[in-house]
Amino acid sequence: MKDKKLHIITFGCQMNVYDSDKIAMMLKDLNYSVTDNPADADMILLNTCSVREGPENKVVSQLGRFKKLKEENPNLILGVGGCVAQQKGEELLKQVKYLDIVFGTDSLPALPDMINTYTQTGKRISQTEIQLSDIYKFVEVTPDYETNNVSDFVKIMKGCNKRCSYCIVPFTRGTEVSKPSKKVIEECKILAKSGVKEITLLGQTVNSYGRDKKNEISFAQLLEKINEIEGIERIRFTSPHPKYFTKDLMDAIYKLDKVMEHIHMPIQSGSNKVLKEMRRQYKSEQFLEQIKYMRSLMPQLEVTTDIIVGYPTETEEDFNLTLDFLKTIQFDNAFSFAYSPRPMTESFNLEETLTLDEKKARLNKLMDLQKEISIKKSQNLIGTIQEVLLDNDSDGRDNNQYSGRTRGNRKVYIDDIKDKKIGDIFNVKITEGYIYTLKGIII
Ligand code: SF4
Repeated sequence: MKDKKLHIITFGCQMNVYDSDKIAMMLKDLNYSVTDNPADADMILLNTCSVREGPENKVVSQLGRFKKLKEENPNLILGVGGCVAQQKGEELLKQVKYLDIVFGTDSLPALPDMINTYTQTGKRISQTEIQLSDIYKFVEVTPDYETNNVSDFVKIMKGCNKRCSYCIVPFTRGTEVSKPSKKVIEECKILAKSGVKEITLLGQTVNSYGRDKKNEISFAQLLEKINEIEGIERIRFTSPHPKYFTKDLMDAIYKLDKVMEHIHMPIQSGSNKVLKEMRRQYKSEQFLEQIKYMRSLMPQLEVTTDIIVGYPTETEEDFNLTLDFLKTIQFDNAFSFAYSPRPMTESFNLEETLTLDEKKARLNKLMDLQKEISIKKSQNLIGTIQEVLLDNDSDGRDNNQYSGRTRGNRKVYIDDIKDKKIGDIFNVKITEGYIYTLKGIII
């Protein structure tokens, strides 16, 4: 079979990065290898995201970039996958006449068959035309899977059973399905064999793992099992939901030496009224207690979060409660966004009380406060010794600079790595602290 080139463009979250990686792995069997240059490609795939605003238009305009390539080379295959494909299906084929394949998140394992059908028949195809099994199938990582990464993702579940009022994920990724723990462990072992030192477990509500199955182990038990795998030195996970952040889980995180001292847990608002309207299923006090308990076990724990500013029912008082919450809890970092409505979600029909400028003003105020906290926390680390995994040789900033991550997930730049190489874990003395990064020297 002729060698062919595949170019993949990935939008959105780590889940999509993971899926793109597995698409490349699956298509190796069809003789495709990845190229960074779309002009060299025999197939171009867009792995899309619908969490941000105007996703569909973005996809259509991205495809427009490749129209000329398709005209010059009619054999070029153009495909769209991911959340927008899951939502739009056949509609996308109708909208973009030069698009060949549409595969949603649920039809990912069927992609090789869809490509074969398209190449054999020339008939444009979308997921609505294929028969999927009733039982969701995860893409399985093959035993000969190879990666150059020292850090990699493992998807342990798909979908979400929550119905947060603003979120489109349950509509694009469906209900929760946990990957059998045996498969998760196998995948971690394959990665370890390939040189991966750090694994990040992925799930929309990662700590509700196993709850959809009768005889599955819990998330805490899964961490224990992965902790035993030789070669894996660090375990991370994202994103846990406060509802399932149980004492058992917190104790497991403390007890297991390979589970890192970093929690990224979305709070979304500091106002209990807004949390209730968002249907988040916890109160800010519960979140605070969880973090207090974790910090009592691990004072070095770093905590980051997601926040939505300007939810339709958010009053000035609610917003101030979020600011107060930030001051009380002292997150190491917060990813904050101005609310924007998503079709199909419950909050889509709520009347917005704030203008875009008002939402932006609140967002800026919150970001300024968080920056102050983040820089103070970074500077508190100056003079401390941090264990660093060297994961990146230059990061494109400066060719003489190397970078790695602390156990708390902070990026550290190091000028002179001496005899160390990518994948090594060693101690670094922190010499400088900035909002998002640190600088240090090997000791
Ligand atoms: S927990 Fe809520 S915000 Fe997170 S993916 Fe599920 S519905 Fe969306």
